[in-house]
Amino acid sequence: MDSRVAPQPTPGGYRILADSALRDYLGRLPAIAARLGGLPEAWSVTEVGDGNLNLVFIVKGPSGGIAVKQALPYVRLVGESWPLPLSRAHYEHLALTHQARLAPGLVPAVLHHDETLALTAMELLEPHIIMRKGLVAGTCYPRFVEDITTFMARTLFLSSDLAVPAAQKKEGIAAFAGNHALCKITEDLIFTDPYRKAEQNRWTQPYLDATAARFREDLDLHVAISRLKLKFMSSPEALIHGDLHTGSIMVTENETKVIDPEFAFYGPMGFDVGAIIANLLMAYFASDGHERELSERQAFETWVLHAIETVWTEFAGKFLALWRSEAKGDAYPAILFEGAAGAARLERERQGYLNRLFQDTVGFAAAKTIRRILGLAHNIDFELIEDLKRRAVCEARSLHLARTMMLDTPSFPTIDKVTKAARALRGWQPDFSR
Ligand code: ADP
Ligand code: MG
Repeated sequence: MDSRVAPQPTPGGYRILADSALRDYLGRLPAIAARLGGLPEAWSVTEVGDGNLNLVFIVKGPSGGIAVKQALPYVRLVGESWPLPLSRAHYEHLALTHQARLAPGLVPAVLHHDETLALTAMELLEPHIIMRKGLVAGTCYPRFVEDITTFMARTLFLSSDLAVPAAQKKEGIAAFAGNHALCKITEDLIFTDPYRKAEQNRWTQPYLDATAARFREDLDLHVAISRLKLKFMSSPEALIHGDLHTGSIMVTENETKVIDPEFAFYGPMGFDVGAIIANLLMAYFASDGHERELSERQAFETWVLHAIETVWTEFAGKFLALWRSEAKGDAYPAILFEGAAGAARLERERQGYLNRLFQDTVGFAAAKTIRRILGLAHNIDFELIEDLKRRAVCEARSLHLARTMMLDTPSFPTIDKVTKAARALRGWQPDFSR
């Protein structure tokens, strides 16, 4: 695995805090102890981490609860043979506090952070569930589009050169530059491995064998994914979340919270927006596989497609509004756009900027989809479809659209072209013999 680096010595003082050690540690933090109430011995400590990388504990006392996340010096999903720097907890904390400032109320509040232990205590999100689980169950989330578009427009615009003076922006890039081990995971697992023979790749066999082989041999596709990889590596447009899928969002019907920004760095905005659109598209294509009676999930599917459309249109509207009112950065100097003609030209340029961002979004959405079907990390949208052939049909539709989006991005100038293509593929029966 290319991502592996030599094991690094864990810094002095780091230790994994489980049960009683965690209780003792938290008991010595007055604000946390007060929030939980009662005596540490009586607190319940449950490990709930279902992610790929870290430990997450829910700690509850008589007065309240908290969530505690601790980084391990290796990838949890794989084990100690794949070391990963603890510093990711530093970047996650830095990103969470940035996001809390830029998009108030849309991330869990940080209550405590310990650099040495790579540990962060935060607000317990309850009764929120991981959005992906709700989507598998066919639940619609009426607040979601409003909240996620506010989150993305504000975190992306307000950390970009459109909003922030050049020196401050470059300090921001520097502050996150050390998070390169996490970027490397993305560079390998999303932008390289699904298109080559990689030991850890998986797909639904035998149905997708031929498709996976075609993806490994298609040089046009290899060019397209490499262009996207270069854009990911070399475009510090804004502080991006870096892993903004529906497993990094916790929801109720009335609230949306974005968690887990440990992949945060200054990268291309379209990577975050594309992640949301890709994961909603996958929820749409997987929906057929979760149907027990014909058309049972039609209302859900209609909602998802509408959500995909409005994620883009509302994001674009909010981004434009911010640009009109909060353009305090050094890009597009006002002095160059004076008078009515200048204002009109700048407004046209804003539209052009968003059109280009949409093209990035389409490409990154395709990349995020393909890696979930042909790469290492899959998602429960598809994995919970037990009948393998049925699962493969849903995945093949999803792959078909993603491949077209990546190879022929300009044929999707607007979001309705994407949803129209998705709808058209809903009934397509792939031929697995080819
Ligand atoms: P990883 O980085 O390992 O993927 P996550 O940050 O995604 O870890 O957290 C793993 C799981 O822990 C989440 O899927 C969620 O179920 C739970 N979790 C994380 N943060 C919170 C929180 N603030 N409140 C409640 N549950 C949480
Ligand atoms: Mg996670």
